[in-house]
Amino acid sequence: MAFSPLPKLPDVRGSYTLEAPLAPFVWFRTGGPAQVLFRPADADDLAYFLKNRPAEVPLTVIGVGSNLLIRDGGVAGVVIRLSSAFGRVVCEGTRIHAGAAALDSAVAKVAAAGGVAGFEFLRGIPGTVGGALRMNAGCYGSEVKDVFVSATAIDGRGERHELSPTDMAFAYRRTDVPEDYLFVEAVFEGKPDDQASIQARMDEMMKNRETVQPVHSRTGGSTFKNPEGHQAWKLIDEAGCRGMKVGGASVSNLHCNFLINDGGATASDIEALGEQVRAKVKEKSGIVLEWEIKRVGVA
Ligand SMILES: Cc1cc2nc3c(=O)[nH]c(=O)nc-3n(C[C@H](O)[C@H](O)[C@H](O)COP(=O)(O)OP(=O)(O)OC[C@H]3O[C@@H](n4cnc5c(N)ncnc54)[C@H](O)[C@@H]3O)c2cc1C
Repeated sequence: MAFSPLPKLPDVRGSYTLEAPLAPFVWFRTGGPAQVLFRPADADDLAYFLKNRPAEVPLTVIGVGSNLLIRDGGVAGVVIRLSSAFGRVVCEGTRIHAGAAALDSAVAKVAAAGGVAGFEFLRGIPGTVGGALRMNAGCYGSEVKDVFVSATAIDGRGERHELSPTDMAFAYRRTDVPEDYLFVEAVFEGKPDDQASIQARMDEMMKNRETVQPVHSRTGGSTFKNPEGHQAWKLIDEAGCRGMKVGGASVSNLHCNFLINDGGATASDIEALGEQVRAKVKEKSGIVLEWEIKRVGVA
């Protein structure tokens, strides 16, 4: 797609890339480019950009795209992807301080090495801390909410905010934090335990995950949220959607709440497949599935 020209962007210390392909940055490995991709040098650079950018420039933040479908026409405006300057993870006592670009698995590993329990569930979630905060990521009966102490976010006008658990208002795979808040770091708290027991629990979760999820495929994880009192995969299975295909996209045979890019799928193949699944589930059960995967950009 041809993007409308953008006004001049602030002079930053980080980098701007024009028409930057995003497919390499997302798990589905498909979708269009960012009109501009901004990698801030650090939190001050990010705040400076946000304070000084022309207000009409649309902003989108991405982590490592493990819960994201970038539509084929790409994303207008500026897409922000935090750099490795936001990737620090430190254990102090039973607290973990983590930058928003740190991988969830790094948080789990640092916590385990420090003898802090409660982070095992993060070992197999393939996102960043920023994505985990936004999504209240969770599995195996735990979620981010359970270990959360505080987070720092910078809003769309460049103002910093310290967020408490009340401010976050965590709910199932969501928070109530305004959409223009970018998380830059967070503090979590676990409980002391011996390293071997923590490691054993992480190993068990990883082993189990490999057998029930297509973790080595081009996927966006669970496509739909579990409706109250139901499991999305079961509704999808009962509606006969396992293995269904649109173009190069298919419903995973291993876990039918996962959609897969079999190789040549466009984002519109994947989205159309998801919509067909929703329609079939509604027809069979009367239940309307809600997308868990975030879809951004234009078709
Ligand atoms: C194989 C596989 C298995 C998965 N298993 C699980 C699971 O067990 N449990 C689970 O909860 N999820 C799971 N997921 C989904 C995904 O890993 C999580 O939702 C994860 O938290 C997304 O993080 P991300 O960095 O990839 O975010 P992205 O996918 O890049 O973005 C997701 C959302 O977070 C926002 N976001 C990202 N960074 C920031 C930031 N710094 N500040 C503000 N907003 C931000 C984005 O704008 C977007 O709205 C799985 C995905 C895959 C591919």
